[in-house]
Amino acid sequence: MKEVTATIITIGDELLIGQTIDTNSAFIGQELTKAGIWLKRRVAVGDVREEILDALAQQSRDNDIILVTGGLGPTADDITKPALCAYFGASLVVHEGALQNVTDIFNRLGKPVTDRNRRQAEVPDSCTVLPNQRGTAPGLWFEKDGVVYVAMPGVPHEMKGLLLDRVLPKIRERFTLPAIAHRTLLIAGKGESEIAEILENFEGSLPPSIKLAYLPAYGMVRLRLTGKGDEQSSLEAAVAARFDLLKGLVAEWMVADEDISLPEAVSRLLKSKGRTLATAESCTGGAIAQMFTARPGASALYNGGVVSYSNEAKQDLLNVSAATLASNGAVSEATVLEMARGARHALRTDYAVATSGIMGPDGGSPEKPVGTVWIAVAGAAEARAQKFSFRFDRARNIELTAHNALNFLRRFVLEMEGE
Ligand code: ATP
Repeated sequence: MKEVTATIITIGDELLIGQTIDTNSAFIGQELTKAGIWLKRRVAVGDVREEILDALAQQSRDNDIILVTGGLGPTADDITKPALCAYFGASLVVHEGALQNVTDIFNRLGKPVTDRNRRQAEVPDSCTVLPNQRGTAPGLWFEKDGVVYVAMPGVPHEMKGLLLDRVLPKIRERFTLPAIAHRTLLIAGKGESEIAEILENFEGSLPPSIKLAYLPAYGMVRLRLTGKGDEQSSLEAAVAARFDLLKGLVAEWMVADEDISLPEAVSRLLKSKGRTLATAESCTGGAIAQMFTARPGASALYNGGVVSYSNEAKQDLLNVSAATLASNGAVSEATVLEMARGARHALRTDYAVATSGIMGPDGGSPEKPVGTVWIAVAGAAEARAQKFSFRFDRARNIELTAHNALNFLRRFVLEMEGE
Protein backbone atom coordinates (compact mmCIF):
# COMPACT_ATOMS: atom_id res chain seq x y z
CA MET A 1 0.00 0.00 0.00
CA LYS A 2 1.38 3.40 -0.95
CA GLU A 3 2.20 5.59 2.03
CA VAL A 4 0.07 8.76 2.32
CA THR A 5 2.35 11.69 3.17
CA ALA A 6 1.72 15.16 4.57
CA THR A 7 3.46 18.41 5.45
CA ILE A 8 2.28 21.04 7.93
CA ILE A 9 2.82 24.69 7.06
CA THR A 10 2.30 27.09 9.98
CA ILE A 11 1.96 30.76 9.11
CA GLY A 12 2.63 33.76 11.34
CA ASP A 13 5.50 36.07 12.29
CA GLU A 14 4.70 35.36 15.95
CA LEU A 15 5.78 31.74 15.45
CA LEU A 16 9.14 32.74 13.99
CA ILE A 17 10.05 35.30 16.63
CA GLY A 18 9.19 32.91 19.44
CA GLN A 19 6.21 34.85 20.74
CA THR A 20 3.87 31.92 20.14
CA ILE A 21 4.94 28.32 20.55
CA ASP A 22 3.80 26.16 17.68
CA THR A 23 1.53 23.76 19.54
CA ASN A 24 -0.62 23.28 16.44
CA SER A 25 2.05 21.25 14.67
CA ALA A 26 2.50 19.01 17.70
CA PHE A 27 -1.23 18.27 17.85
CA ILE A 28 -1.59 17.74 14.11
CA GLY A 29 1.51 15.55 14.06
CA GLN A 30 0.09 13.29 16.76
CA GLU A 31 -3.28 12.98 15.04
CA LEU A 32 -1.79 12.29 11.60
CA THR A 33 0.44 9.60 13.06
CA LYS A 34 -2.53 7.98 14.78
CA ALA A 35 -4.36 7.98 11.45
CA GLY A 36 -1.47 6.27 9.66
CA ILE A 37 -0.36 9.31 7.65
CA TRP A 38 3.38 9.89 7.37
CA LEU A 39 4.19 13.45 8.39
CA LYS A 40 7.25 14.27 6.30
CA ARG A 41 7.93 17.86 7.29
CA ARG A 42 6.87 20.84 9.38
CA VAL A 43 7.53 24.23 7.81
CA ALA A 44 7.03 27.59 9.54
CA VAL A 45 6.77 30.78 7.48
CA GLY A 46 6.11 34.41 8.39
CA ASP A 47 3.30 36.62 7.19
CA VAL A 48 5.00 37.07 3.81
CA ARG A 49 3.05 36.30 0.67
CA GLU A 50 6.02 35.03 -1.38
CA GLU A 51 7.15 32.75 1.43
CA ILE A 52 3.69 31.22 1.68
CA LEU A 53 3.49 30.67 -2.08
CA ASP A 54 6.98 29.14 -2.12
CA ALA A 55 6.18 26.80 0.75
CA LEU A 56 2.97 25.61 -0.93
CA ALA A 57 4.75 24.99 -4.23
CA GLN A 58 7.73 23.20 -2.66
CA GLN A 59 5.81 21.01 -0.25
CA SER A 60 3.26 19.88 -2.83
CA ARG A 61 6.02 18.35 -4.97
CA ASP A 62 6.33 15.23 -2.86
CA ASN A 63 3.28 15.18 -0.57
CA ASP A 64 -0.32 14.08 -0.83
CA ILE A 65 -1.64 16.46 1.82
CA ILE A 66 -0.62 19.99 2.84
CA LEU A 67 -2.12 21.23 6.12
CA VAL A 68 -1.88 24.97 6.70
CA THR A 69 -2.71 26.80 9.93
CA GLY A 70 -2.82 30.51 10.75
CA GLY A 71 -3.40 33.84 9.08
CA LEU A 72 -7.05 33.28 8.13
CA GLY A 73 -8.36 36.08 10.33
CA PRO A 74 -9.49 39.60 9.54
CA THR A 75 -6.37 41.55 10.55
CA ALA A 76 -4.00 43.21 8.11
CA ASP A 77 -1.25 40.66 8.63
CA ASP A 78 -3.57 37.74 7.92
CA ILE A 79 -2.59 37.11 4.36
CA THR A 80 -3.19 33.38 3.98
CA LYS A 81 -6.45 33.81 2.08
CA PRO A 82 -5.08 36.23 -0.55
CA ALA A 83 -2.04 33.98 -0.95
CA LEU A 84 -4.27 30.92 -1.44
CA CYS A 85 -6.29 32.83 -4.05
CA ALA A 86 -3.07 33.64 -5.93
CA TYR A 87 -1.86 30.04 -5.68
CA PHE A 88 -5.10 28.47 -6.91
CA GLY A 89 -6.08 31.27 -9.33
CA ALA A 90 -9.23 31.88 -7.27
CA SER A 91 -11.21 34.94 -6.18
CA LEU A 92 -12.77 35.65 -2.81
CA VAL A 93 -16.54 35.21 -2.60
CA VAL A 94 -18.90 35.39 0.37
CA HIS A 95 -19.96 31.95 1.60
CA GLU A 96 -23.52 32.09 2.91
CA GLY A 97 -23.11 29.32 5.50
CA ALA A 98 -19.93 30.90 6.87
CA LEU A 99 -21.61 34.32 7.00
CA GLN A 100 -24.52 32.86 8.94
CA ASN A 101 -22.03 31.32 11.37
CA VAL A 102 -20.28 34.70 11.89
CA THR A 103 -23.66 36.43 12.42
CA ASP A 104 -24.84 33.75 14.87
CA ILE A 105 -21.64 33.99 16.90
CA PHE A 106 -21.82 37.80 17.21
CA ASN A 107 -25.56 37.69 17.99
CA ARG A 108 -24.87 35.25 20.79
CA LEU A 109 -22.22 37.61 22.15
CA GLY A 110 -24.64 40.56 21.80
CA LYS A 111 -22.15 42.41 19.60
CA PRO A 112 -22.68 44.08 16.22
CA VAL A 113 -21.16 42.39 13.16
CA THR A 114 -18.62 44.69 11.56
CA ASP A 115 -17.40 44.60 7.94
CA ARG A 116 -14.15 43.19 9.22
CA ASN A 117 -16.03 40.31 10.85
CA ARG A 118 -18.05 39.71 7.68
CA ARG A 119 -14.82 39.30 5.75
CA GLN A 120 -14.26 36.09 7.74
CA ALA A 121 -17.00 34.59 5.54
CA GLU A 122 -15.12 35.37 2.32
CA VAL A 123 -13.53 32.26 0.88
CA PRO A 124 -11.64 31.44 -2.33
CA ASP A 125 -14.22 30.32 -4.91
CA SER A 126 -12.36 27.10 -5.75
CA CYS A 127 -12.41 25.62 -2.24
CA THR A 128 -14.80 23.43 -0.28
CA VAL A 129 -15.78 25.15 2.98
CA LEU A 130 -15.37 23.16 6.19
CA PRO A 131 -17.68 24.68 8.84
CA ASN A 132 -15.94 25.87 12.02
CA GLN A 133 -18.20 25.33 15.03
CA ARG A 134 -15.73 26.96 17.42
CA GLY A 135 -15.02 30.25 15.66
CA THR A 136 -15.62 32.55 12.74
CA ALA A 137 -12.98 31.48 10.18
CA PRO A 138 -14.00 28.31 8.30
CA GLY A 139 -11.57 25.64 7.13
CA LEU A 140 -10.76 25.66 3.41
CA TRP A 141 -10.21 22.44 1.42
CA PHE A 142 -8.59 22.56 -2.03
CA GLU A 143 -7.43 19.94 -4.50
CA LYS A 144 -4.91 20.58 -7.24
CA ASP A 145 -2.98 18.05 -9.34
CA GLY A 146 -3.91 15.22 -6.98
CA VAL A 147 -2.72 17.06 -3.86
CA VAL A 148 -5.10 18.05 -1.05
CA TYR A 149 -4.52 21.40 0.68
CA VAL A 150 -6.40 22.35 3.84
CA ALA A 151 -6.18 25.79 5.47
CA MET A 152 -7.32 26.07 9.09
CA PRO A 153 -7.40 28.98 11.55
CA GLY A 154 -4.38 29.41 13.81
CA VAL A 155 -6.35 29.50 17.10
CA PRO A 156 -5.47 26.08 18.58
CA HIS A 157 -8.94 25.32 19.96
CA GLU A 158 -10.56 26.06 16.58
CA MET A 159 -7.92 24.17 14.60
CA LYS A 160 -8.39 21.09 16.81
CA GLY A 161 -12.15 21.02 16.30
CA LEU A 162 -11.80 21.38 12.55
CA LEU A 163 -9.08 18.78 12.25
CA LEU A 164 -10.89 16.12 14.26
CA ASP A 165 -14.47 16.76 13.12
CA ARG A 166 -13.99 17.77 9.49
CA VAL A 167 -10.53 17.35 8.07
CA LEU A 168 -9.53 13.85 9.20
CA PRO A 169 -12.91 12.28 8.30
CA LYS A 170 -12.64 13.82 4.83
CA ILE A 171 -9.05 12.65 4.44
CA ARG A 172 -10.18 9.12 5.37
CA GLU A 173 -12.80 9.27 2.60
CA ARG A 174 -10.37 10.65 0.05
CA PHE A 175 -7.34 8.37 0.69
CA THR A 176 -6.86 4.69 1.48
CA LEU A 177 -5.06 4.73 4.82
CA PRO A 178 -3.37 1.71 6.39
CA ALA A 179 -4.79 -0.09 9.41
CA ILE A 180 -3.09 1.27 12.54
CA ALA A 181 -2.98 -0.17 16.07
CA HIS A 182 -1.40 1.59 19.04
CA ARG A 183 -0.87 0.30 22.59
CA THR A 184 0.79 2.51 25.18
CA LEU A 185 2.00 1.97 28.73
CA LEU A 186 3.47 4.33 31.29
CA ILE A 187 6.47 3.59 33.48
CA ALA A 188 8.02 5.66 36.24
CA GLY A 189 11.17 5.44 38.29
CA LYS A 190 13.40 3.93 35.61
CA GLY A 191 15.38 5.95 33.06
CA GLU A 192 14.95 5.68 29.30
CA SER A 193 18.42 4.25 28.67
CA GLU A 194 18.04 1.56 31.36
CA ILE A 195 14.69 0.57 29.90
CA ALA A 196 16.18 0.50 26.41
CA GLU A 197 18.78 -2.00 27.63
CA ILE A 198 16.13 -4.23 29.20
CA LEU A 199 14.09 -4.12 26.00
CA GLU A 200 16.93 -4.60 23.52
CA ASN A 201 16.07 -8.20 22.64
CA PHE A 202 12.33 -7.54 22.66
CA GLU A 203 12.77 -4.64 20.25
CA GLY A 204 15.03 -6.71 18.02
CA SER A 205 12.40 -9.46 17.82
CA LEU A 206 9.59 -7.20 16.62
CA PRO A 207 8.36 -7.72 13.06
CA PRO A 208 8.99 -4.79 10.67
CA SER A 209 5.29 -3.86 10.84
CA ILE A 210 5.45 -3.14 14.61
CA LYS A 211 7.60 -0.36 16.07
CA LEU A 212 8.43 0.55 19.66
CA ALA A 213 8.65 4.26 20.57
CA TYR A 214 10.10 5.76 23.76
CA LEU A 215 8.39 8.99 24.81
CA PRO A 216 10.16 10.26 27.95
CA ALA A 217 8.91 13.12 30.15
CA TYR A 218 9.74 14.16 33.71
CA GLY A 219 11.03 10.97 35.20
CA MET A 220 8.52 8.85 33.35
CA VAL A 221 8.63 7.05 30.05
CA ARG A 222 5.73 6.20 27.79
CA LEU A 223 6.31 3.10 25.70
CA ARG A 224 4.18 2.88 22.62
CA LEU A 225 3.84 -0.03 20.23
CA THR A 226 2.52 0.94 16.82
CA GLY A 227 1.52 -1.60 14.22
CA LYS A 228 0.83 -0.71 10.61
CA GLY A 229 -0.79 -3.16 8.21
CA ASP A 230 -3.64 -3.95 5.84
CA GLU A 231 -6.22 -5.53 8.09
CA GLN A 232 -7.33 -4.04 11.42
CA SER A 233 -8.32 -7.04 13.53
CA SER A 234 -5.28 -9.24 12.76
CA LEU A 235 -3.03 -6.21 13.29
CA GLU A 236 -4.63 -5.48 16.66
CA ALA A 237 -4.14 -9.10 17.72
CA ALA A 238 -0.46 -9.02 16.69
CA VAL A 239 0.15 -5.77 18.59
CA ALA A 240 -1.76 -7.05 21.65
CA ALA A 241 0.43 -10.19 21.81
CA ARG A 242 3.62 -8.07 21.72
CA PHE A 243 2.13 -5.66 24.24
CA ASP A 244 1.59 -8.50 26.73
CA LEU A 245 5.25 -9.47 26.38
CA LEU A 246 6.28 -5.85 26.88
CA LYS A 247 4.15 -5.51 30.01
CA GLY A 248 5.81 -8.57 31.50
CA LEU A 249 9.26 -7.09 30.90
CA VAL A 250 8.57 -3.74 32.59
CA ALA A 251 5.98 -4.87 35.17
CA GLU A 252 8.10 -3.65 38.08
CA TRP A 253 7.96 0.01 36.96
CA MET A 254 4.63 0.05 35.14
CA VAL A 255 2.18 2.69 36.34
CA ALA A 256 -0.57 2.10 33.77
CA ASP A 257 -1.09 -0.10 30.74
CA GLU A 258 -2.89 2.62 28.83
CA ASP A 259 -2.14 6.11 27.62
CA ILE A 260 -2.83 8.12 30.77
CA SER A 261 -0.75 10.56 32.81
CA LEU A 262 0.73 9.90 36.24
CA PRO A 263 -1.74 12.27 38.00
CA GLU A 264 -4.57 10.40 36.29
CA ALA A 265 -3.16 7.03 37.40
CA VAL A 266 -2.76 8.19 41.02
CA SER A 267 -6.25 9.75 41.04
CA ARG A 268 -7.75 6.51 39.77
CA LEU A 269 -5.88 4.48 42.39
CA LEU A 270 -7.03 6.69 45.28
CA LYS A 271 -10.59 6.76 43.98
CA SER A 272 -10.67 2.97 43.59
CA LYS A 273 -9.66 2.62 47.25
CA GLY A 274 -12.06 5.38 48.35
CA ARG A 275 -9.15 7.31 49.88
CA THR A 276 -8.57 11.04 50.30
CA LEU A 277 -5.40 13.07 49.93
CA ALA A 278 -3.85 16.27 51.26
CA THR A 279 -0.65 17.99 50.10
CA ALA A 280 1.99 19.95 52.01
CA GLU A 281 4.25 21.65 49.51
CA SER A 282 7.28 23.76 50.09
CA CYS A 283 9.59 23.61 47.04
CA THR A 284 6.85 22.60 44.59
CA GLY A 285 4.72 25.62 45.57
CA GLY A 286 1.37 24.03 44.75
CA ALA A 287 2.42 22.14 41.60
CA ILE A 288 1.13 18.85 43.03
CA ALA A 289 -2.15 20.44 44.12
CA GLN A 290 -2.51 21.82 40.61
CA MET A 291 -1.98 18.37 39.06
CA PHE A 292 -4.92 17.02 41.03
CA THR A 293 -7.26 20.00 40.75
CA ALA A 294 -6.70 20.27 36.99
CA ARG A 295 -8.63 17.00 36.69
CA PRO A 296 -12.43 16.90 36.67
CA GLY A 297 -13.76 14.99 39.69
CA ALA A 298 -10.77 15.93 41.89
CA SER A 299 -13.03 16.78 44.82
CA ALA A 300 -13.80 13.09 45.34
CA LEU A 301 -10.26 12.46 46.52
CA TYR A 302 -8.38 15.74 47.03
CA ASN A 303 -9.25 17.67 50.21
CA GLY A 304 -6.73 20.47 49.86
CA GLY A 305 -3.17 21.48 50.57
CA VAL A 306 -0.84 23.90 52.26
CA VAL A 307 1.90 25.77 50.44
CA SER A 308 4.21 26.14 53.43
CA TYR A 309 7.16 27.98 51.99
CA SER A 310 8.58 29.64 55.09
CA ASN A 311 9.57 27.92 58.31
CA GLU A 312 6.82 29.89 60.09
CA ALA A 313 4.20 28.50 57.71
CA LYS A 314 5.50 24.98 58.31
CA GLN A 315 5.20 25.53 62.07
CA ASP A 316 1.92 27.49 62.14
CA LEU A 317 -0.07 25.57 59.53
CA LEU A 318 1.41 22.08 59.67
CA ASN A 319 2.59 21.87 63.24
CA VAL A 320 6.22 21.19 62.32
CA SER A 321 8.18 21.69 65.53
CA ALA A 322 10.65 24.54 65.92
CA ALA A 323 13.17 22.08 67.34
CA THR A 324 12.98 19.86 64.24
CA LEU A 325 13.54 22.84 61.97
CA ALA A 326 16.38 24.18 64.12
CA SER A 327 18.29 20.92 64.33
CA ASN A 328 17.61 19.45 60.86
CA GLY A 329 16.74 22.39 58.59
CA ALA A 330 13.71 22.75 56.33
CA VAL A 331 15.10 20.36 53.72
CA SER A 332 15.38 17.23 55.81
CA GLU A 333 13.78 13.88 56.44
CA ALA A 334 12.47 14.91 59.86
CA THR A 335 10.84 18.12 58.58
CA VAL A 336 9.19 16.58 55.54
CA LEU A 337 7.78 13.72 57.64
CA GLU A 338 6.27 16.22 60.07
CA MET A 339 4.85 18.20 57.14
CA ALA A 340 3.11 15.12 55.73
CA ARG A 341 1.72 14.10 59.13
CA GLY A 342 0.64 17.69 59.80
CA ALA A 343 -1.21 18.01 56.48
CA ARG A 344 -2.93 14.65 56.95
CA HIS A 345 -4.08 15.75 60.39
CA ALA A 346 -5.09 19.33 59.43
CA LEU A 347 -7.05 18.24 56.36
CA ARG A 348 -8.36 15.00 57.90
CA THR A 349 -7.36 12.76 54.98
CA ASP A 350 -6.28 9.16 54.58
CA TYR A 351 -2.99 10.12 52.94
CA ALA A 352 -0.77 13.18 52.62
CA VAL A 353 2.28 13.89 50.50
CA ALA A 354 4.90 16.53 51.32
CA THR A 355 7.86 18.09 49.53
CA SER A 356 10.79 20.20 50.69
CA GLY A 357 13.89 20.88 48.61
CA ILE A 358 16.36 23.33 47.09
CA MET A 359 15.25 24.10 43.56
CA GLY A 360 18.07 26.51 42.60
CA PRO A 361 19.76 28.34 41.15
CA ASP A 362 20.74 29.70 44.61
CA GLY A 363 20.39 28.29 48.10
CA GLY A 364 22.59 25.21 47.81
CA SER A 365 25.40 24.26 50.21
CA PRO A 366 28.06 21.50 50.14
CA GLU A 367 25.86 19.31 52.41
CA LYS A 368 22.63 20.15 50.59
CA PRO A 369 23.41 21.09 46.98
CA VAL A 370 20.82 22.55 44.60
CA GLY A 371 18.45 19.75 43.57
CA THR A 372 18.36 18.11 47.00
CA VAL A 373 14.74 17.17 47.70
CA TRP A 374 12.97 15.28 50.46
CA ILE A 375 9.57 13.77 49.74
CA ALA A 376 7.35 12.18 52.39
CA VAL A 377 4.04 10.35 52.44
CA ALA A 378 1.91 9.70 55.48
CA GLY A 379 -0.93 7.22 55.92
CA ALA A 380 -2.88 5.94 58.91
CA ALA A 381 -0.31 3.28 59.82
CA GLU A 382 2.99 4.92 58.98
CA ALA A 383 4.88 7.74 57.29
CA ARG A 384 7.91 7.39 55.06
CA ALA A 385 10.39 9.75 53.41
CA GLN A 386 12.93 9.51 50.62
CA LYS A 387 15.72 11.79 49.44
CA PHE A 388 16.07 12.66 45.76
CA SER A 389 18.79 14.55 43.89
CA PHE A 390 17.93 16.45 40.75
CA ARG A 391 20.37 18.40 38.61
CA PHE A 392 18.38 20.63 36.33
CA ASP A 393 17.07 24.19 36.33
CA ARG A 394 14.41 25.41 38.73
CA ALA A 395 11.40 24.73 36.53
CA ARG A 396 12.47 21.21 35.64
CA ASN A 397 13.46 20.40 39.22
CA ILE A 398 9.95 21.41 40.35
CA GLU A 399 8.31 19.24 37.68
CA LEU A 400 10.53 16.29 38.55
CA THR A 401 9.84 16.68 42.26
CA ALA A 402 6.09 16.81 41.70
CA HIS A 403 6.11 13.72 39.47
CA ASN A 404 8.39 11.75 41.77
CA ALA A 405 6.19 12.68 44.73
CA LEU A 406 3.17 11.26 42.91
CA ASN A 407 5.00 8.06 42.10
CA PHE A 408 6.27 7.74 45.68
CA LEU A 409 2.69 8.18 46.91
CA ARG A 410 1.40 5.64 44.36
CA ARG A 411 3.92 3.02 45.47
CA PHE A 412 3.16 3.69 49.14
CA VAL A 413 -0.61 3.29 48.65
CA LEU A 414 -0.08 0.06 46.69
CA GLU A 415 2.15 -1.31 49.44
CA MET A 416 -0.34 -0.39 52.15
CA GLU A 417 -3.46 -1.58 50.36
CA GLY A 418 -2.45 -3.87 47.50
CA GLU A 419 -3.40 -3.59 43.81
P1 ATP B 1 -8.62 34.00 13.57
O1 ATP B 1 -9.34 34.06 12.30
O2 ATP B 1 -9.48 33.42 14.65
O3 ATP B 1 -7.95 35.29 13.97
P2 ATP B 1 -6.21 33.10 12.30
O4 ATP B 1 -6.27 31.99 11.32
O5 ATP B 1 -6.09 34.48 11.77
O6 ATP B 1 -7.40 32.96 13.32
P3 ATP B 1 -3.80 33.74 13.57
O7 ATP B 1 -4.23 35.18 13.58
O8 ATP B 1 -2.62 33.38 12.75
O9 ATP B 1 -4.99 32.80 13.17
O10 ATP B 1 -3.59 33.24 15.06
C1 ATP B 1 -4.64 33.28 15.98
C2 ATP B 1 -4.12 32.89 17.36
O11 ATP B 1 -3.64 31.56 17.33
C3 ATP B 1 -2.95 33.74 17.82
O12 ATP B 1 -3.06 33.92 19.22
C4 ATP B 1 -1.75 32.90 17.49
O13 ATP B 1 -0.66 33.22 18.32
C5 ATP B 1 -2.28 31.49 17.70
N1 ATP B 1 -1.56 30.58 16.80
C6 ATP B 1 -1.36 30.74 15.48
N2 ATP B 1 -0.65 29.72 14.98
C7 ATP B 1 -0.37 28.88 16.02
C8 ATP B 1 0.33 27.65 16.15
N3 ATP B 1 0.91 27.08 15.08
N4 ATP B 1 0.41 27.09 17.37
C9 ATP B 1 -0.17 27.67 18.43
N5 ATP B 1 -0.87 28.81 18.38
C10 ATP B 1 -0.96 29.42 17.18
